[in-house]
Amino acid sequence: MLTLTTQDIKMGQTLATKEAAIMALAQWLEQEGHVGAGYAAGMLAREAQTATYLGQGIAIPHGTQDSRHLVKKTGIKALHLPEGIDWGDGEKAYLVLGIAAGSDEHLELLRQLTRALQRDDLAGQVRSATHSEDILALLQPSAADNTPMLSWQSDMLQLQQPADTMDELLAQAASALELQHERHALQQSLLHLGQGWWLCQVPAAGPAKAAILTTPALIHQGHKVCGLLALKTHGGSHKQLLAQLADWLVAGQAASLASLSSAHELAQALNNGPVAEGEHRLVVTIHNEQGLHARPGALLVQAAKQFEATIQVRNLDGDNQPVNAKSLMKLISLGVRPGHRLQFVASGPDAEAALSELETAVNSGLGEGVTSPHSAQQVPCTGAPADPGAPWQGVAASPGIAIGPLYVEMPVNFDYADVACDAAAEQQRLTHALQQADQSLALAAQQTGAQARDILSMHRELLSDPGLQEGTRQRIETGASAPAAWWAEIDSAAAVQAASSNPMLAERAADIRDIGRRVMAILCNTALPEPPSTPYIWVAEDIGPSDVVNMNTERVLGLVTAGGGASSHSAILARSLGIPALVAMGKGVMTLDSGTPAILNGDSGTLLVDPDKHLLAEAEQTQQRERELAEQAWQQREQPAVTTDGHRIEIAANLGNTADTAAAVAAGAEGVGLLRTEFVFMEQGREPSLQQQVAQYQQAFSALAGRPLVARTLDVGGDKPLPYWPLPKEDNPFLGVRGIRLCMQRPELLETQLRALLTAAGSEPLRIMFPMVADIAEWRFGKALFDNLQAEIGAPNVQLGMMVEVPSAALNAARFAKEADFFSIGTNDLTQYTLAADRGNGALASLSDGLHPAVLRLMAMTVEAAHAEGKWVGMCGELGADPQALPILLGLGLDEISVSPKRLPRVKARVREFSLSQCKQLAARALTADSAGAVRALTGATP
Ligand code: PEP
Ligand code: MG
Repeated sequence: MLTLTTQDIKMGQTLATKEAAIMALAQWLEQEGHVGAGYAAGMLAREAQTATYLGQGIAIPHGTQDSRHLVKKTGIKALHLPEGIDWGDGEKAYLVLGIAAGSDEHLELLRQLTRALQRDDLAGQVRSATHSEDILALLQPSAADNTPMLSWQSDMLQLQQPADTMDELLAQAASALELQHERHALQQSLLHLGQGWWLCQVPAAGPAKAAILTTPALIHQGHKVCGLLALKTHGGSHKQLLAQLADWLVAGQAASLASLSSAHELAQALNNGPVAEGEHRLVVTIHNEQGLHARPGALLVQAAKQFEATIQVRNLDGDNQPVNAKSLMKLISLGVRPGHRLQFVASGPDAEAALSELETAVNSGLGEGVTSPHSAQQVPCTGAPADPGAPWQGVAASPGIAIGPLYVEMPVNFDYADVACDAAAEQQRLTHALQQADQSLALAAQQTGAQARDILSMHRELLSDPGLQEGTRQRIETGASAPAAWWAEIDSAAAVQAASSNPMLAERAADIRDIGRRVMAILCNTALPEPPSTPYIWVAEDIGPSDVVNMNTERVLGLVTAGGGASSHSAILARSLGIPALVAMGKGVMTLDSGTPAILNGDSGTLLVDPDKHLLAEAEQTQQRERELAEQAWQQREQPAVTTDGHRIEIAANLGNTADTAAAVAAGAEGVGLLRTEFVFMEQGREPSLQQQVAQYQQAFSALAGRPLVARTLDVGGDKPLPYWPLPKEDNPFLGVRGIRLCMQRPELLETQLRALLTAAGSEPLRIMFPMVADIAEWRFGKALFDNLQAEIGAPNVQLGMMVEVPSAALNAARFAKEADFFSIGTNDLTQYTLAADRGNGALASLSDGLHPAVLRLMAMTVEAAHAEGKWVGMCGELGADPQALPILLGLGLDEISVSPKRLPRVKARVREFSLSQCKQLAARALTADSAGAVRALTGATP
């Protein structure tokens, strides 16, 4: 940070003009290597644009944006001028601070100065100071103050108050602050800050209060009055308010504040600070489900780093402090949650382009979708069992059963000296270790899958974090050894991260320590622990993501961690690798002995240590059965799903991306039963063109090689926001303007999508369906658009249908079936609307069961109505993949079921276990059952 020392102040100077003072300061800055020749011209040019008088006898001349390139290193020099220099507008400067700053480092100093401005008679004291120490003391903020800072709110601002005299304005200020009795004291404190702004303040009991009053035109003591900041001070909580106004004064833009037309605008302007010359700004909202955690953060940093521009970012819904957008560490420390607004401030040659790129990157989700990530089941209580022999309880993070000996990995102790005498050699050692660690991460990234690659790339980003490296290098310069310096930086960065109130962000502490250990092992020439060469269940305090990426999946049967959470990267990766895992077992798990046999159950969240023979045999049988079933199902994935009595049902895939079509076909999909086309609209942060859509849909058709594609038209609104289609906030978004209702407001958008689908289809089998149809008028609206386009395009193999996911559509299915070619039942929404149970509310998870008889009845009505008109009915809700539900769905007479590709082979295999007649009987009993629980009890009796 920029600091002023006694060596930077020349006391008792005499100069005649402000130009002379500026020239003297520029020369001094140049002599000391802070600026190159020509900076004086930049300072004078800035002065010509706006006077840099700060208030209370202090001026702060500095260069323009154009002269920033002349700044070699940030610096500040001060001239003490007891006789004062005329600084324009009748103001006299007694202390002139010449600033050379390439970026925003000087802002902190300016904040400090502006706080010092509150001192009574600062100008007089500066003027009469005799030692540079006195000046430094005067410029310190008055007292350390931990009181929470006030920030500007619209209701603190009164715009364009009519007042003929300053007295009248002061009376209004006193009334705004409820200080009518202190009006005289307020008047006494009146101070001209410059640029038409005035300050009055009184200390008083009770909470601090502030008001700003702007006024159209007023002259007081020969100076213009455009705004009055009135403060009732108590503690230091008002200081930020003053500092924020001072930022505008420093930038010479305070006069423009008074012309803002709304209190909201003014509050925002004050809170966000002035726009500097050549500076560009952008405010975006983060919609990522888990906020800005490390992976999307790394993508954001990468996007920012492509540009030369200086980019600062602050969390407008957090502490509002700016940080470097090119530092991942800094970025994640902002604690950005979903819905938080980020403000980017960029300056430099490509600032505008940088902001546009960042906007696109943020709006497109920074590599993440907007749907809920898989969240593993949480269990209420974890840790060692009360009875020896009972299982340990943890949080189930990845399903499946693992049986084998434990390998308890104790943390490594690195041995190193704390201090070193050759700083240059230590710097070299650090550089080498960082390079080696980066190379090993790059190598690992080449040898792994996409998800692990993302994490490794985020780790490389952390490794090159300027904040982390700079901190380490500074510690080395003060005598620390390279490992001591590195670990101290890692430790404090991880501690800051772990303290985040957002669990997802707090878990990123593990990533920081993970890269920390990797570099430490190189610096200390210490081998990281060597796991056994035979298969084992890996137990560790916390398993770092790169450990998971590098681990030998042939040997690691399961993962158990003392700490961590279900959304930690290790857990995500374990799920993607199909390795059963438990997390948050508690520290006690580290006392278990390596080599002890154990059974890890990733479904129930339990670890059974040293099981008896009987339990071991049982677990082995279960595991073996699961394996065989999965293997058999995979072998027969290409076979149709036919019941034992010869009834065939089509099993298709649910896709959220056309790129996954080929994998779905490889898993045995007989078509795509639901293409959630939202992804096409979310990919690039703006509406896709016709051509882009055609290309996307063609990709699916070509991978399907003649199999049918059911494409659902755009279903946004409610729980699925589109960043570039801002919608008014709704109290009940699930019951609000979403799906087809929303598309009716933008028919041209739906028309383009239909055109793209029909164009891409050619002669391929295309089925189009509308989401959220509740009323016949909505259906007819969509159908009319479709009919028009078909008349023009005439794709030969197309059907038009609708989703049945609103109870009214099911109840009126007989009417819809006359006009639609098919139905697809969306049980996710149908269940929430039938049972009035928000699908996203975990507390209602047991109520929102699609096997509830009420939901089953609506399904039965839908199937009956469709079949009566010779139309087919599919089902694309999650219920299709529920093994207990499957026989009932078959019994209800569905013609097609679509599930996620991973579940596809098992669903097909399960169909082959039943006879249709048996399923029909079961379905009939289910329809008359009392509750979802009763239905599930019925299914327990089936094979
Ligand atoms: C459904 O509601 O069941 C469905 C498949 O649609 P989505 O989950 O996309 O709302
Ligand atoms: Mg739905």
